[in-house]
Amino acid sequence: MSSKNYTRTRWDVQASDIARKTHNPIRSIVENIVIEPNPNKNMIALSIGDPTTFGNLKTAKEVIDAVQESVASQLYNGYAPSTGYQEAREAVAEYSSNEFVKVDPNDVILCSGCSCALDLCITALARPGQNILIPRPGFSIYRTLAEGLGITVRSYNLRPDSGWKIDLDDLESKIDETTAAIVINNPSNPCGSVFDRDHLLDILDIAARYYVPIIADEIYEHMVFPGRTFWSLASLSKEVPILSCSGLTKRFLVPGWRMGWITIHDRQNILDREVRKGLLSLSQRIIGSNTIVQGALPAILSKTPQKFYDDVIHTLYTQSKLAYKCIIKVPGLKPIMPDGAMYMMVYIDLGCFPEFKTELEFVQCLLMEESVFCLPGQCFDYPSYMRMVITVPEDMLQEACLRINDFCERHHCKTSHEIIRNSLRRVEIPY
Ligand SMILES: *Cc1c(COP(=O)(O)O)cnc(C)c1O
Repeated sequence: MSSKNYTRTRWDVQASDIARKTHNPIRSIVENIVIEPNPNKNMIALSIGDPTTFGNLKTAKEVIDAVQESVASQLYNGYAPSTGYQEAREAVAEYSSNEFVKVDPNDVILCSGCSCALDLCITALARPGQNILIPRPGFSIYRTLAEGLGITVRSYNLRPDSGWKIDLDDLESKIDETTAAIVINNPSNPCGSVFDRDHLLDILDIAARYYVPIIADEIYEHMVFPGRTFWSLASLSKEVPILSCSGLTKRFLVPGWRMGWITIHDRQNILDREVRKGLLSLSQRIIGSNTIVQGALPAILSKTPQKFYDDVIHTLYTQSKLAYKCIIKVPGLKPIMPDGAMYMMVYIDLGCFPEFKTELEFVQCLLMEESVFCLPGQCFDYPSYMRMVITVPEDMLQEACLRINDFCERHHCKTSHEIIRNSLRRVEIPY
């Protein structure tokens, strides 16, 4: 190594392009909110997409037992193969198979959460300069992952007036020669929508006509309310290559355990030449996922009783109805009843609230006055809406809805005079 041409004369350590280009829009929007909640009211955060935050939703005893046994066995302290232990992959293959689709253990890659599964899929399919199509409104991780890698994202619209179905013409119009994949999130965060079978077939038809593979973010699989059916994309296509991403996080209420997976669905062996190998190589970057949870996976996926799943769904459904029934009566707001997952989107008719220029100002003022915080639609690339998390304890959800109602009555251009009169009357009552 020659020292002659060496030009560094001081410390100047720079961040890589990937580091610089990686942004989480939720973080940057939320961190810019400097508003303090109202000190006289306890804080109710309807913003946190972690169902374990308040302790009212707990994973099943069988799941805890499985992990305890895994730890105690001392069999899972070492490195696993980078795609995961055979038994763990077999368990996921079994869990993901049904009468329409059979998953082979060799088609399973265990990952560190579903986010990591999405990361591997996007990285394996798209090159810098190419684009992937993502839903709007949608979860921000797709953009965060892709843009860091120099992959462009193009949003296709969901339609709030038709149960958040994809605007198929819009989707089709966004595809071009450089489209590497379509990301489909079903059931949806933030919408709580669940696509029916016909709609999924329409989506698959577009993917097939343009020869574009699909990345299916199905982390909320099976989390659908009574009367609705979850169809995995892979169960409906014999042609389109589908990388399906899921995990324990949401359905089993253990986001911190970081256990997710990819199941590769490729009945025409289209991905065999390169992409499958690419996924395997990329999995070596993470040296496999958490082995303790891998050791527990066969028991978790086979022994968790149906009652646990049913109880979680029951809670989510009951609370969604509660929130919907309350918010539908609030002047200036229009909730959209979810069919699954853990969220409800609420339209804010800003025309009724002239004080607020954007939904961001609305949620900030709601935080300041009522100590209730919902994520502004901007976080999901969808202004004029806010997202409510419906996993908080029932009494908190009820209280939050009442406060949202008070807030909107107070600020609504038509009702505010009346309400001020009422509240003046209220303070006259001594207590
Ligand atoms: C929560 C969530 C994920 C990430 O799940 P992890 O397993 O915690 O990485 C992925 N996609 C969507 C739509 C989510 O809501």
